[in-house]
Amino acid sequence: MSNIRFKAIFQSSEHKVHPMVETTKRSEAFGVNVFNNDRMMQYLTKDAMESVKNAVQTGSKIDRKMADQIAESMKAWAMSMGATHYTHWFQPLTGATAEKHDAFFDLLPNGKAMEKFGGSQLVQQEPDASSFPSGGIRNTFEARGYTAWDPTSPAFIYGATLCIPTVFVSYTGEALDNKAPLLRALHAVDQAATSVARYFDKNVNKVMATLGWEQEYFLIDKAVANSRPDIVLTGRTLVGHSAAKGQQLDDHYFGVIPLRALNFMKDLEMECTKLGIPVKTRHNEVAPNQFELAPVFEEANLAVDHNLLLMDVMDKVADRHELKVLFHEKPFSGINGSGKHNNWSLATDTGVNLLSPGSTPMKNLQFLTFFVNTIKAVDTYEELLRASIASASNDHRLGANEAPPAIFSIFIGKQLSSVLDELEGVSKGKLSPEEKTELKLNVVGKIPEILLDNTDRNRTSPFAFTGNKFEMRGVGSKINCAKPMTVLNTIVARQLIDFKKEVDSLIDKKGLKKDEAVFNILREYIKSSKRIRFEGDGYSEAWHKEAAKRKLSNNKTTPEAVNILTAKSSLDLFREMQVMSEIEVRARQEVDLENYILQTQIEGRVFNELVNTHIIPAAIHYQNSVIENVKGLKEIFGASYKKLAEGQLAILEEISLHLGETKQKSEAMIIARKKANAEEDIHKKAMGYCYDVKPYFDDIRYHCDKLEQLVDDQSWPLAKYRELLFIR
Ligand code: ADP
Ligand code: MG
Repeated sequence: MSNIRFKAIFQSSEHKVHPMVETTKRSEAFGVNVFNNDRMMQYLTKDAMESVKNAVQTGSKIDRKMADQIAESMKAWAMSMGATHYTHWFQPLTGATAEKHDAFFDLLPNGKAMEKFGGSQLVQQEPDASSFPSGGIRNTFEARGYTAWDPTSPAFIYGATLCIPTVFVSYTGEALDNKAPLLRALHAVDQAATSVARYFDKNVNKVMATLGWEQEYFLIDKAVANSRPDIVLTGRTLVGHSAAKGQQLDDHYFGVIPLRALNFMKDLEMECTKLGIPVKTRHNEVAPNQFELAPVFEEANLAVDHNLLLMDVMDKVADRHELKVLFHEKPFSGINGSGKHNNWSLATDTGVNLLSPGSTPMKNLQFLTFFVNTIKAVDTYEELLRASIASASNDHRLGANEAPPAIFSIFIGKQLSSVLDELEGVSKGKLSPEEKTELKLNVVGKIPEILLDNTDRNRTSPFAFTGNKFEMRGVGSKINCAKPMTVLNTIVARQLIDFKKEVDSLIDKKGLKKDEAVFNILREYIKSSKRIRFEGDGYSEAWHKEAAKRKLSNNKTTPEAVNILTAKSSLDLFREMQVMSEIEVRARQEVDLENYILQTQIEGRVFNELVNTHIIPAAIHYQNSVIENVKGLKEIFGASYKKLAEGQLAILEEISLHLGETKQKSEAMIIARKKANAEEDIHKKAMGYCYDVKPYFDDIRYHCDKLEQLVDDQSWPLAKYRELLFIR
């Protein structure tokens, strides 16, 4: 069998034998591979335990002697679990995670061998990281990078390796990763939110951001997926005609999970459980072979680490099941792509969710304070939030009427809209006793404690309030959540600081009571942030027009979207919140553009390979067989063959037409690529790829897909959509 497509399909039928799945109770397996509190209690001295706890809660430093002790205990535990190596586990700007394994094994000066792992290896490591993208930071400063332990995310054993979550920074202190800015943003929002929460409860000493992500993905038979060069190299299908059946019957969404996928999920869930990832929900998604997995929410930094770890575990477990996971935001045209909703809230160390309405008017005033401030923050920095989820692959999804548009708006539901409308009517300055009573009883007091079931579901909104949290829906399935979480927490921190200043000034200078001052400022915010609120259909043409009137940004592509990162307002924001210096922001913009260019460039190259070595040869091969047929008819029937060969002649012409167009368009694309490559300026180069190169992709695809429909199924070399999406 020479056709790789058929080989793969044949192989896929052998994949139906599934590996055995462990059936231990999840609660018993939870976190067994994590150096968590229980393990620490078992292995650490009281002092060491205290110093880790303090570091987690207050960010205090762990001294060297203590670090030695902790490392020794970690090693003892890890080795008892069969670990042989350790690695600093970090998040370079590639978007994925990176690791460099070192053995515990070491030689002593006397030539004897021993297992070694000390405080210095725990606290710091220097990976040879010169090949990671740094957006020019390392060149500018000729600085090497090092990784430093993040004790807020516990170490874990993965395979036979002890993994230590770390930040990755240059010796001059610039963050070279996604984690360091996130930790700074979380610190900023902690400080800002704590001081505002103390208006309402003096016992609050810490506020943490919480994140619950929902990971969507496709699951494809491994052999079939590997038979397609485009899936292997770009993570998506560049060509491929839609199957006769797609998602129109809605028969996959929440349907019975196919057995093969279910076995994969069970295995995956057990692996995750052991690693302390609290996965909870699994279901079929809208498109065929598309699924979703969601955990119980956690502190945001830990949740980000767990999402990155999950994606890696998914790859490995899928491999065992002869499956391939596609994380790309748009692997198939004509059916839904994949996202990763980020559910976000703020929680105090007193156990209160600040975005959850309470049972008393005062608790509700606290809720309204954080609620309105978040709305205001998103209104001010909507374009920056859009930039945080920009990528070549996510561009395919945003605004494609299956995911929210590239325009940011907030949906809060009818009930809360009417509360905000009433608050807007509150008079300025001091409030009369009647007004106060009215507010407390009938406006703030009216917010039901549990909004969860009362908030309408508006699936078209990119930023929706869902009862006790906001849900950011434009995040791509492949993206590191650290990026949107860094921006969201930074802008909310900025907003809360401004709010506190304004409230304090009304109290100090105008002699207003605290709740009067809070009402006054909230009223102003409700007024000034109105344009960001939208309750209607985010997919509609009318909204696009309306949004333009409201001057909301609508950056449809990555090269446009990331411009805002280096606007003065953004640079000021990140600097003042001590989240990123100008150098760090510029570096990230450069890396975003570079990634965009490289991904598009790779797709362009794969297109040429597919066209020249797969599609055109298959079309010619089939066309030749038709020519043979026509020649034979002519031989037998003489001059009257034409009438008999009408269909064949039409096919010959159609093939020639689409073949010619395919060739011509792909040659033109090469010229456009060369032109874009010649651009020195990275912005211009990215724009070149976006506006001059990428448009050819659709043209080429159109003609290739026409050929797929003309050419004999037996000679078509690429696995078809029905085989990719419906083989189970
Ligand atoms: P859906 O959006 O699909 O209806 P759910 O309402 O079940 O999903 O919840 C989605 C996610 O929201 C879950 O991962 C859950 O843990 C998370 N979540 C719930 N409460 C919070 C919170 N306070 N902070 C952050 N995430 C939360
Ligand atoms: Mg959701």
